[in-house]
Amino acid sequence: MSRPARALIDLAALRHNYRLAHQRHGGRALAVLKANAYGHGAVRCAQALAPLADGFAVAFLEEALALREAGIRAPILLLEGVFAARDFEAVHRHGLWTVVHHAEQIRMIELSEAPPASLRVWLKLDSGMHRAGFAPQALREAHARLMASGKLDRPPVLMSHFARADEPEVQATRRQLEVFGAATAGLAGETSLCNSAGLLAWPEAHGDWARPGILLYGADPLGGGHGLRPVMRLSSEVFAVRQLAPGEALGYGGSFVADQPTRVGLVALGYADGYPRSAPTGTPLAVDGQASRTLGRVSMDMMTVDLSQLPEAGLGSQVELWGPQVDVNQVAQRAGTIAYELLCNVKRAPLAYQDS
Ligand SMILES: *Cc1c(COP(=O)(O)O)cnc(C)c1O
Repeated sequence: MSRPARALIDLAALRHNYRLAHQRHGGRALAVLKANAYGHGAVRCAQALAPLADGFAVAFLEEALALREAGIRAPILLLEGVFAARDFEAVHRHGLWTVVHHAEQIRMIELSEAPPASLRVWLKLDSGMHRAGFAPQALREAHARLMASGKLDRPPVLMSHFARADEPEVQATRRQLEVFGAATAGLAGETSLCNSAGLLAWPEAHGDWARPGILLYGADPLGGGHGLRPVMRLSSEVFAVRQLAPGEALGYGGSFVADQPTRVGLVALGYADGYPRSAPTGTPLAVDGQASRTLGRVSMDMMTVDLSQLPEAGLGSQVELWGPQVDVNQVAQRAGTIAYELLCNVKRAPLAYQDS
């Protein structure tokens, strides 16, 4: 029998989450499929969403080409834009949309061989995140240059990105909105501001287009309460059981020492599969549907779980590391990271799909 570790992807849940986001936003929504759809398999996710999505977004050209090669014909936006003028040939040939976030990319458009009125561009403003995008005072000139290039098929979508949309109580997002409003006043073009957290927490920022990512995969960036369904179930099985006597240390570093008789299950999944090594003793998981916890260090190929309270559990017991029973946000929090990183790092454990 083959190793039981796997990541089961629920495509019906993915569609449910997209529909929910779309309704809540009220405009159009690009489903963000970068980083192999946050670890869920970009092609399969795109195929599942194609009948309902307004389009897709990925980080860069190669990610978009993989979708085109798989027959995905919907609009695809390159969120990082292109890296060289010659890339516009592929952008044009494959009908991709592209973000422009710095002056060199405008120069590439001016120099590109793309035919007149052929490119669909999203122009990115830095409204306060101070990562990518034009400064507010540079936006008008960037817009004018793009329009004057003659290469665009319509005015650019005016976009920006929030640094702290997942913190509804802080003022940073409101300030970014004000900067966006002032910088884009009077400029032709539709608007797009919201990632998942913006879409859920900032209705006044919705604009014409949303760009939901993490919420599609059912990890609520605001912690919960929005009716999202987890899409990935990362699971494996108990393949050995042992008993620790009080005082015995478990695994590398001996970081867990039993203070009472402890029944330990050995699970066939480790950090090489993407489970975080930083997850400490006590990180939640489920064994045969019942809540339990990790014990000791996570190893490369295996990890150890507490079966002391689960006398029925043993060889062959199903262990869910995250999914419908175990919130990936909670695992991430215990491991000192975010659900995004856990999901997009899943590897080696094969992806399987269900659609019900
Ligand atoms: C990744 C990304 C998104 C999606 O963000 P989520 O927080 O996953 O919803 C939206 N916009 C841009 C520019 C991005 O890079």
